[in-house]
Amino acid sequence: MTLHVPTLVLMLAAGFGLLTLQLWMAGCGALGRSELRRLSLAGLAFCLGFALFGLRPWLPGWLVLLGGNWLLMAGLAALAAAVSRHLLNREPPVWHHGLLLAAALVVPAVLDVPTPVRAGAMSVAMGVLLLPATLAAMRLGWRGELSFRAVALLLLLASLLLWLRAGLAARWLGAPPAEAAAWQDGSRDVFLLAFLAVLAAGFAFVLAHFERMASQMRKLASVDGLTGAMNHSTTVSLLAHAMERGRREGQPVGFVMLDLDHFKRVNDRHGHAMGDQVLKAVAACARARLRGSDVFGRLGGEEFGLVLPATGAVGARHLAEQVRLAVEALELRGDGGQPLRVTLSAGVAEAARGDTPETLMHLADKALYQAKQKGRNRVVVADDWLRNSTLQSVVG
Ligand code: GH3
Ligand code: MG
Ligand code: MG
Repeated sequence: MTLHVPTLVLMLAAGFGLLTLQLWMAGCGALGRSELRRLSLAGLAFCLGFALFGLRPWLPGWLVLLGGNWLLMAGLAALAAAVSRHLLNREPPVWHHGLLLAAALVVPAVLDVPTPVRAGAMSVAMGVLLLPATLAAMRLGWRGELSFRAVALLLLLASLLLWLRAGLAARWLGAPPAEAAAWQDGSRDVFLLAFLAVLAAGFAFVLAHFERMASQMRKLASVDGLTGAMNHSTTVSLLAHAMERGRREGQPVGFVMLDLDHFKRVNDRHGHAMGDQVLKAVAACARARLRGSDVFGRLGGEEFGLVLPATGAVGARHLAEQVRLAVEALELRGDGGQPLRVTLSAGVAEAARGDTPETLMHLADKALYQAKQKGRNRVVVADDWLRNSTLQSVVG
């Protein structure tokens, strides 16, 4: 099979052009994600580069070789920058610019050498330029979004094809004149296929970006921005899930409701911003004492809920007591350096047959109310008496 080279070049120019156009129309700049801006710059450079190669019959040869290769190299450098932004959230290291400069200097140096030497030199320079992005994508990208695995594989394919082209150019250089044309065709086709892989990597990159955005949105929708705890509705769903699982597996489920004592005073004395810092510190302190399977939720204001799978009332009480002591021992300071002490009260309840998440939370809330009434800075476990009176009040 022989590839129709002008068609392939036109396709690459159009493909990269469309990728760039789509990114601009989608407002990649307005999205504020610099990785997509860099990807669109890469697409633009590739589009212009292949457009120049397509205009070869009508333009001076030196202009096409110089401009075309420089544009492709600039595109590869922008692609590497996009990958670096996506994976490491930073610009590529300075030596990347050195690499680009060195690769760019190769182009004028090989303008007048025999074609196979020039083809080989260009492929090596471009292969080297693509190497850091490929290695980073294979190493770090594999652990990220699923769609980024396609980017990693396509960049690897593009790199391998560029190195293969360098090998083919070497064979072309040493080939007898009768076979030279075949090696030349092979080396050119492999080069174009390498950029087809780069084009596909560009579209896969966009998918990976949106996969990341979707997961960030999901996180934002379920996590409280200040403390990193699950929000109210997510906590209730996770409690329902834990109770259902506990019923199936015959395991107890504990629930603890925590409320900071006299928190209004903290705000009044130290200001709302300091109050926020206290909430963050208390949340971090409580979370540090939980297991991976426990859920830490913010039920509202300065009220938190702990969902404790496979934990009965005794274990839940013990944990709540540990959190209470740890918060009491927190050495916080106000803006002026003055000591700032906080304590919390906790209500503990264990799920029983027939409980819904709402009744269990209601029960823990009642126990918390008792802890407040008994003088605060303490843990109260909902006993049978409290359970019966609570259920009666719920039913009534
Ligand atoms: P107690 O629970 O011991 O009865 O007293 P309290 O002062 O903590 O009582 P209450 O629950 O009525 O007050 C809660 C206060 O928490 C009211 C509000 O100003 C404050 N608060 C709620 N959410 C936030 C928040 O996100 N940031 C800050 N800084 N304060 C908050
Ligand atoms: Mg309170
Ligand atoms: Mg409260």
